[in-house]
Amino acid sequence: MSGDVEAAARPAPSGTGAGTDPLAALRAAARATAERREAERAAHHAERERQGRAKRSLDELREIARRGAAELHGVGTPGHDGAHDRPEATADEVVAWAAREFGTSVAVACSMADAVLPHVVAAQIPWVDVLFLDTGYHFAETVGTRDAVEQQMDVTIVDVHPELTVAEQDAAHGTDLFSRDPGLCCQIRKVEPLHRTLAGYEVWVTGVRRDEAPTRTTTPLVTFDERNGLVKINPLAAWSFDDLLAYAAQHQVVLNPLLNDGYPSIGCRPCTRRVAPGEDPRAGRWAGLDKTECGLHG
Ligand code: SF4
Repeated sequence: MSGDVEAAARPAPSGTGAGTDPLAALRAAARATAERREAERAAHHAERERQGRAKRSLDELREIARRGAAELHGVGTPGHDGAHDRPEATADEVVAWAAREFGTSVAVACSMADAVLPHVVAAQIPWVDVLFLDTGYHFAETVGTRDAVEQQMDVTIVDVHPELTVAEQDAAHGTDLFSRDPGLCCQIRKVEPLHRTLAGYEVWVTGVRRDEAPTRTTTPLVTFDERNGLVKINPLAAWSFDDLLAYAAQHQVVLNPLLNDGYPSIGCRPCTRRVAPGEDPRAGRWAGLDKTECGLHG
């Protein structure tokens, strides 16, 4: 029980009237917790503003990425075969490196399929910015997961919106663009808004894992993202889906309930279906279409 809850759960002094409502103590505790967390979040960002520094040049960031890849010994780093050499860095080691190199100029991308990546990063960079691409097409469970993460974890959720609302997109391109041109829909609702937002950071952290899809088997720990102009790190690259679930269970991390309901990969509602046991985990994404990635990862 937190100090806020303990204080609020003590009997109210006689004459205050609080004792007449059995939920008053819980509501007061929730308010106190929310206010304390908001104060901590604000203090973190004030400190970040105080320390604020100009984003380094692309050449400087390229050099940091090159140095980081070698230091962390990622599979695929030139001269490293990943089997007979020093093992590649763990997720915690990758995040520690990022904290040293970039301070608070760090953005974590999170689809809200789970909150493992924000949890791993926030352990070393509390109140880190967590970018949520609010496409307007999410499952209710995904939006609920986003809200739970904001309430329970020491992170700062940054909702990233497209220039066009769904209604404006419908007016400009016709309804259900996702069914006719999912590439353009993803470009408008995911790729462009993320690109615009990442301009304010030196590094972004993704939860991409090598075991997720054939297109992701060579995912490096650290690279330079030429398209978005910043360093990109993938601390969970070597993790399996079972590793992810085990971490979530051990640390009581929020999971999107759809994960245990046949959706091992969760995107927008119109473009995601359940997969059968043993099926490729990403087979439910853009099923029946010649599209396997939203374009965020190249
Ligand atoms: S996943 Fe589907 S609905 Fe979401 S942005 Fe891409 S095409 Fe549009």
